[in-house]
Amino acid sequence: MAGTLYLVATPIGNLEDMTYRAVRVLSEADLIAAEDTRNSIRLLTHFGIRTPMTSYHEFNKYDKGRELVDQLLAGKNIALITDAGTPGISDPGQEVVRMCHEAGVTVTSVPGACAAVTALIISGQETRRFVFEAFLPAEKKERREVLSRLKDEERTMVIYEAPHHLKKTLAELFEALGDRSVTIERELTKKHETLQKTTLAEACAYYETNEPRGEYVLVIAGADHKEAVKAEQAMWQESMTIPEHVKYYEDAGMDRKEAMKAVAKDRGISKRDVYRELIGGE
Ligand code: SAM
Repeated sequence: MAGTLYLVATPIGNLEDMTYRAVRVLSEADLIAAEDTRNSIRLLTHFGIRTPMTSYHEFNKYDKGRELVDQLLAGKNIALITDAGTPGISDPGQEVVRMCHEAGVTVTSVPGACAAVTALIISGQETRRFVFEAFLPAEKKERREVLSRLKDEERTMVIYEAPHHLKKTLAELFEALGDRSVTIERELTKKHETLQKTTLAEACAYYETNEPRGEYVLVIAGADHKEAVKAEQAMWQESMTIPEHVKYYEDAGMDRKEAMKAVAKDRGISKRDVYRELIGGE
């Protein structure tokens, strides 16, 4: 009988977030595959877990993945852990899971901490629908494409970032998305956890004089198209009267009927309202 691959979540900073089940599964497994065995030894020692470990990381995920699948097929139960949080989320895991599916090996999870969800739920942003963008791509062209796509994303966006890239990422997000509400969360579940609910413009200014330190998650408000339309309608209303607005389009070459239609659309009012104002103004 083949064994089972367990994807076991570990704490993202607070050891008390280790689950009872995680301790039991890691203790009972035949082998623990860890992203960094030196890092995980501390966690395992803390919980008195003595299961043998092997390394499974980004750079050996194919060869080591196949070895793990062979051991699973031979009947071993293997638990996969990463340095922190949930395996497979911006961490190794996906490849060996895919290999297990192909080989007919059972995969199951021992859920627990994940920085993305932890950040989202305390962000004060809309939580009903969200997208997880992980780390923005490092490659320039791909990064530009992702940023341009995110401009129109209406769901809340969750992004991971390392401290040394935070300023650049905030500046690029501001440039691509305009000013938006953002919750910047740092050192989640740790002693120095901080949450800053601010805007992208304010955040850029803040980090001009404050050096980023620690691990960050950014939770950004989705695009509010209704708000954008309302702002544009208000802009027209404040900048000129309806007759001036009609004249603006006539001067640009439209006939009166076309101009009235365009004005009605810009202001979110009916053509009849435009006509009425025009008659009153003439
Ligand atoms: N698998 C992990 C999970 O489930 O969240 C994510 C691993 S990814 C390599 C590491 C990134 O997650 C960090 O750069 C940071 O953006 C985020 N992260 C992890 N722990 C965090 C924490 N305690 N506070 C804030 N962000 C954290």
